[in-house]
Amino acid sequence: MSATRMCVVCRQALDQDEGLRIVLGPEGIAALDFRQKLPGRGAWVHWTRSCMEQLNQRGRLNRAFKTDVRIPEAVEGEEPFPMGPARRWVERRQKELLALGQRAGQVKTGANVVLGVVRKGQAEYLVLARDTGETVARDWEHKARGYELPLYRTLLGAGELGEALGRTGVRSVLAAGGGPLSRALQTELKRGAAFL
Ligand SMILES: [Zn+2]
Repeated sequence: MSATRMCVVCRQALDQDEGLRIVLGPEGIAALDFRQKLPGRGAWVHWTRSCMEQLNQRGRLNRAFKTDVRIPEAVEGEEPFPMGPARRWVERRQKELLALGQRAGQVKTGANVVLGVVRKGQAEYLVLARDTGETVARDWEHKARGYELPLYRTLLGAGELGEALGRTGVRSVLAAGGGPLSRALQTELKRGAAFL
């Protein structure tokens, strides 16, 4: 797996974590290989809005697969391929990993708890709900800078966050510590930034 992967849009090299893999399904229909495990030839695109939006232009996929590639139709109310399905997948992964991470003690919520974790130096990064108000967001951005922690926005609103974490009520901020679930969540948070 040491071969260099290249984004078919910007032609820059990409790491596996920052790449979305596309494979050819039955009848030449493009499909997204989120787990990056399907056999056969694959094409890669960056998990960024600018690269994903240009994927279907200028016959890029035809050239990558050396055949006529058909693009799946967009689900009503969603953005076109690959953004719609990619966003849906990232949202679901963020929910799953938040719930698993919390159960494993790698994700903490509640403003006071989060602050305690940050002050003890046990946080790797902070997460804000998508709909966090400006004043609250600015306050946490300030704290994150002070403690030199990355801060991400999830695609989930505060209500969805509370639900994903099995709490009654809303959750606007959380702290993630070390651990494999926390690292997997961080990858999905970076990917999700393409849809904010
Ligand atoms: Zn790219």
